[in-house]
Amino acid sequence: KALVQKGYRVRMYCPYGDLLPGMSYLIRRLLENTANSSFVRQSSENRPVEELLSAPKDNPNSNIFETWKPVFPNAADTDFSNAALRDKGLRALEMVRQQLGQTYNPLINGQYINTAQMIDSLNPSNPSEIVGKVGLISVEQAETAIQAAKAAFPAWRHTPVRQRAGVLRKAAELFEQRRAELCAWMAFEVGKPLHQGDAEVSEAIDFCRYYADEMERLDQGYQYDTAGETNRYNYQPRGISVIISPWNFPLAIPVGMTVASLVTGNCTLLKPAEVSSVIAAKITEVLVEAGIPAGVFQFVPGKGSTVGSYMVQHPDVHMITFTGSQEVGCRIYAEAALLKPGQKHLKRVIAEMGGKNAIIVDESADLDQAVAGVVYSAFGYTGQKCSACSRVVVLEPVYEAFVKRLTEAVRSLNVGNAVLPSTQVGPVIDANAQQKIKEYIEIGKQEAELAIQVAAPETGYFVGPTVFINVLPTAKIAQEEIFGPVLAVIKAQNFEEALDIANGTNFALTGGLYSRTPSHIQKAKAEFEVGNLYINRGITGAIVSRQPFGGFKLSGVGSKAGGPDYLLQFLEPRHITENIQRQGFAPIEGVE
Ligand code: NAD
Repeated sequence: KALVQKGYRVRMYCPYGDLLPGMSYLIRRLLENTANSSFVRQSSENRPVEELLSAPKDNPNSNIFETWKPVFPNAADTDFSNAALRDKGLRALEMVRQQLGQTYNPLINGQYINTAQMIDSLNPSNPSEIVGKVGLISVEQAETAIQAAKAAFPAWRHTPVRQRAGVLRKAAELFEQRRAELCAWMAFEVGKPLHQGDAEVSEAIDFCRYYADEMERLDQGYQYDTAGETNRYNYQPRGISVIISPWNFPLAIPVGMTVASLVTGNCTLLKPAEVSSVIAAKITEVLVEAGIPAGVFQFVPGKGSTVGSYMVQHPDVHMITFTGSQEVGCRIYAEAALLKPGQKHLKRVIAEMGGKNAIIVDESADLDQAVAGVVYSAFGYTGQKCSACSRVVVLEPVYEAFVKRLTEAVRSLNVGNAVLPSTQVGPVIDANAQQKIKEYIEIGKQEAELAIQVAAPETGYFVGPTVFINVLPTAKIAQEEIFGPVLAVIKAQNFEEALDIANGTNFALTGGLYSRTPSHIQKAKAEFEVGNLYINRGITGAIVSRQPFGGFKLSGVGSKAGGPDYLLQFLEPRHITENIQRQGFAPIEGVE
């Protein structure tokens, strides 16, 4: 009545019937009728029918089309709601199960070689199952590989970028073809449920295609010519590049680091984490089939502390790209800094390390959304993602309500063997990790109040999702990376305090905020010290090109993976100025 009295046109809706369908019908109507593009809205502006029905045209006065850039076409994940695709995943598990226990050898200079030392890679859901036997290289074999890389470098650095990028694009195709099989290997070797492994295959494919495109862009270089003088800025590869990868993203991370190094023209040695070497052997199969030349890419599984460290310190190695723990990353950074006899360059180190990521939930947050986002971010892949949420800082007015709902949501999680489609939370990687996480849980019981610890199977390396509440910001479980399914809930009196708590660790990897208060969102954008900030969504699952990924402080040195600056780290810029005035041409005798 008030609106009509003010002269507005008023349309009334009165949904009736069942509550939920009625509500959603009403919301849809409101959205449709109030959208600028809605014909209801437009017809109220008395525009001619012909105009209302015509196809939309580019508006020459709008700059949307000038600033719009094509979005990188990311690979699509599998839609597991499709029964045929679900069956394909299950068949792949059966197929891979038949192949368990085979032997995988290192690839040096194009040959698979035998080794004196072998390790068994075990299924963390069922450690009596051997996923594969992996040959570990010796220090002498590492030396042979480095010499082979040196020999292969001159030809690879001069291989046209189009051709190098072609190998990556072919590899992307092969990863797509082997998607279901690779997901199955990840379920067996590192206990990753199928849908989580599937996103990793997409990421690996994206890295191949994105870095191929990026290198073609960089290969154009820059031209700063003036009259009488050419000025050309170009990039050249660095040389011999060692990749040292972790086990928690056993496919996407080593693929991303390796193909970035290869496409930029570096001869590359991949040393995967010991416990995920079978998947690294699968990466090797793909790269070989995609046509990578002998010596250009080599698969050198081995012990980090011996062979890994030997390669890091080798005078012929130009760069080390590492992802893993802060402890090892800092050590590699220091070791690589020492100039060795015969070494004529300083090494470049990219080190992506750990995190202690926080999500802030303020009093205006949508708690349903916040609970779901926190649970997935904290317990997806059993909390073993560098991006995982391990602290949630909740403002006092919603603290009790949040804790209550969070506890019930965590109680509902399904913990079990990673190959079962019903599993939401699988095992942790190995007995050491299980032991370490259990020790942190004991510390947590001293430091804080246990809200819930979900029961977990006895066989296998399982730890049930665990939530501690009333945790002090300075507590050990609120400061140290646990790398397992343990979440610390911390209470804050106001938003400033919450932000201080979130920023109060040595790390700066990912962070999140659930809020509907614009000033809080603004403040978090400006002051939340993280490499990747996520607002009103979960904090894991970065997508190549859309969400370039990486941290700072003690979370890493290096530009973001899957972002526009990443490849620059693998390249050496050169500039050439030529005076082209009055030089003429002086033929040298005997030379045509
Ligand atoms: P880790 O540091 O134990 O091992 C990583 C790699 O380093 C392995 O290949 C290992 O063999 C090798 N290594 C160990 N000692 C070495 C040495 N002295 N010299 C050379 N190499 C050596 O890490 P992890 O347990 O495999 O992975 C988990 C860690 O990785 C967590 O801290 C996690 O946060 C971090 N991570 C970070 C990111 C990121 O992007 N920032 C991504 C994934 C994982």
